[in-house]
Amino acid sequence: MPEENIKTVYLDNNATTAVDPEVFEAMKPFLCDLYGNASSIHTFGGQIAAHIEKARGHVAELLGAVPSEIMFTSCGTESDNAAIFSAVQICPKRRKVVVSKVEHPAVLNVGKELERKGYRVVEVPVDSCGRIDLESLQELVDDNTALVSVMWANNEIGNIYPVEKIAEIAHKNGALFHTDAVQSVGKVPINLAKSKIDMLSLSGHKLHAPKGVGALYVRRGVRFRPFIIGGHQERGRRGGTENTASIIALGKACELARKYMDFENSEVKKMRDRLEAGVIASISSIRLNGDIENRLPNTTSIAFEYIEGESILMLLDRFGICASSGSACTTGSLEPSHVLRAMGVPYTAAHGSIRFSLSRFTTDAEIDFVLEKLPPVIERLREISPFWNSSKA
Ligand code: PLP
Repeated sequence: MPEENIKTVYLDNNATTAVDPEVFEAMKPFLCDLYGNASSIHTFGGQIAAHIEKARGHVAELLGAVPSEIMFTSCGTESDNAAIFSAVQICPKRRKVVVSKVEHPAVLNVGKELERKGYRVVEVPVDSCGRIDLESLQELVDDNTALVSVMWANNEIGNIYPVEKIAEIAHKNGALFHTDAVQSVGKVPINLAKSKIDMLSLSGHKLHAPKGVGALYVRRGVRFRPFIIGGHQERGRRGGTENTASIIALGKACELARKYMDFENSEVKKMRDRLEAGVIASISSIRLNGDIENRLPNTTSIAFEYIEGESILMLLDRFGICASSGSACTTGSLEPSHVLRAMGVPYTAAHGSIRFSLSRFTTDAEIDFVLEKLPPVIERLREISPFWNSSKA
């Protein structure tokens, strides 16, 4: 637990973000005052529909889409599930799905489920920087492929993938293309008007809206089969009474994301770069994970060799610093994450990998604080690390 009176320095924005106060103000009236059901005949409820459509417009505008292409969902995971299950249902003769090895579990585990149903799911490998080789991908996509799904940006290392080129490869083979853009919406400019992408997932809580709301873009003309079957909401594409307050929040968050896009790619990036440069200057035996030239402006994944990421996180936590590690705690043993494994990051580096993810609310003073506290933490852990000491012997 952090010591008392220590302020939180939150550098875990790829896990979730703070709700922007302006977003909170926008959603508030829809919890207690404007609580009607958009489907009601009376004015009190019926007026809600117009607010939902306004929010849909803001989401569409951020993506360069038209409002009718946006469907609200409960989260990024639901959007990914809906896109993938729809694609395989509308192309029943095609029995193959191609994804990358570094997708979020919201895609990879849907792939596992499809395998149980008899589909062939192929995971495209990545190189040591986490990049996808388009020629290898091209060889794997064929006329039996219903869908190619590759994320726009990776949540752990921040790599940005060539989604337009991948969409082209999918289309050449008559397959649909879906991208999980949960980490890129709000961080990098997106213009779907000029795109070949068929479906795109996003999640509110990664861009300063609350948890529990997301959206799926389905390009006009692409057939869609509902994942949640029920009422006529969302033009019959997703049953369930609309989560009005959160939808309004997502709309506001998208409106603000457009306003802050330049800031995200200049000021937030500068802070991320300063953090990295400071770490490189003050700590030895580190490596940067991922494609340094082509990644999200807010993310850095740093491997501190020969020590455990969890120990680093625990010591940083004492200073109120929040980050995350590249390990997943499964069955009591700490396994490096599937992303670092797919990249072939050596064991001694993968175990000590920490992801710092910034936001527009991060301050220079917070970066200074991390740069002050981190080097002694690493030094302390290395002093007691048998791996570090034998590497120096
Ligand atoms: N896809 C990616 C790339 C993510 O980073 C996440 C969340 O971490 C998700 C999907 C799932 O989004 P949600 O938490 O809204 O279900």
